[in-house]
Amino acid sequence: MKFTTINIAVVPGVGYSHLVPILQFSKLLVHLHPYIHVTCLIPTLGSPPSSSKTILQTLPSNINYTFLQPVYPKDLLPQGTTVESQLQLTVTRSLPFIHQALKSLALRTPLVALVVDCFAVEALNFAKEFNMLSYIYYPCAATTLSLGFYLPKLDEETSCEYRDLPEPIKIPGCIPFHGRDIYAPAQDRSTQAYKLLLQRVKRFRSVDGVIINSFLEIEKGPIEALTEEGSDNPPLYPVGPIIQTVTSSDDANHSFECLTWLDKQQPCSVLYVSFGSGGTLSQEQIVELALGLESSNHKFLWVVRAPCSSSSSAAYFSNSEQNDIDLSQFLPPGFMERTKEQGMVILSWAPQIQILNHKSIGGFLSHCGWNSILESVMHGVPLITWPLFSEQRMNAVLLSEGLKVGMRPRVNENGIVERLEVAELIKCLMEGEEGGKMCIRMKKLKENAINTLKENGSSTKTLSQLALKWRNLMHES
Ligand code: UDP
Repeated sequence: MKFTTINIAVVPGVGYSHLVPILQFSKLLVHLHPYIHVTCLIPTLGSPPSSSKTILQTLPSNINYTFLQPVYPKDLLPQGTTVESQLQLTVTRSLPFIHQALKSLALRTPLVALVVDCFAVEALNFAKEFNMLSYIYYPCAATTLSLGFYLPKLDEETSCEYRDLPEPIKIPGCIPFHGRDIYAPAQDRSTQAYKLLLQRVKRFRSVDGVIINSFLEIEKGPIEALTEEGSDNPPLYPVGPIIQTVTSSDDANHSFECLTWLDKQQPCSVLYVSFGSGGTLSQEQIVELALGLESSNHKFLWVVRAPCSSSSSAAYFSNSEQNDIDLSQFLPPGFMERTKEQGMVILSWAPQIQILNHKSIGGFLSHCGWNSILESVMHGVPLITWPLFSEQRMNAVLLSEGLKVGMRPRVNENGIVERLEVAELIKCLMEGEEGGKMCIRMKKLKENAINTLKENGSSTKTLSQLALKWRNLMHES
């Protein structure tokens, strides 16, 4: 049976982890439902990062994309100082270009749905004008989405900072969170970042659906609570875990050296250490981590970025890889020489999917970005949870206290994880009884994740429901 083409428009966020996941979702959507055609209108902050550009070369013919006129960091000041504010304000500044692009698309063909990243909700204001259904693509955990739906109420009922609340916060269906662990923009309620957050999450309620990169077995509590009858939430479409099959990189050579190194290691013997697409550590923390890795006596593969003391998300919007930095400037003296048999250090960017898929990897010390977590789950690798910014602390709590597939390091009064703690946790994960149990739980979670993506799996069916809804709508009109 031949179907009429269904056209949808997609607005990603800026930054690797708000562009690549929604493109990956679009790829899966058109692969399973080839009668759908996607046009991506991509907001940009400065120029797009090279690591994101390579995925655009892998898009099939039924996905088109256009880069919108770029916004520059100076255009976002003074409000745009945090990652989250920059993500949102870039879209705010891009609204006229999004409107223009939708208008010219709608002149050519009827558009059925507008799907936007969770930081691009303002673009949904145009859905009505062009007679489109409106959806959010939420590339993070259902737990953090739940906090979004709950936040306006919490805001009304709370007079102090959340971190000063004596009792944990009970978000419907979620494990309890201490106020200091909820996402970063909610840590200081007097800031512009908090006001923007509230504005954004209030908008979440009035959409036709939220498509989320999660699945029931990893977040049963929040997903069930979000979809409970009478909850007044928009329909939720859990379609995850959607991850890339290989990490795209525009410089394959420097990346693949580490895979050859991994080939020479024992199965499950190597700890992979990475802080996502833009996480950075302070100089002091880099030294403690390096000495902890060394004294653990375990093999490691560490993706290193130059230190930054002012912000742990300093490299998030950086458009260039740090290929020319001098490691001796910030790694402990003699570290590289002493650990040359024990570990490998990679500058700034690694082929993460290929690494996690390698049989030599036995653990992942991660900053707990949601994509990294899903990638670790899909490859059955237990974690050491080392959150840095955004909603990563919530993810760390979910992994360590909820799913029990990750161990969380203790932080000293200066906010530093000391070398002894690093070494002990690595030993515990890689050779201890608790690490073994986590590994078993992670393998089970992996099995569930794989099943949910099979032809009859719940995520595949959910995606089909959505496609069917769009198809019916198109036929009706
Ligand atoms: N990533 C990668 N190589 C690196 C660092 C990160 O391929 O050296 C990818 C990783 O596989 C994941 C994404 O970047 O898909 C990071 O997303 P996540 O949500 O984990 O963290 P964020 O970048 O948002 O902090």
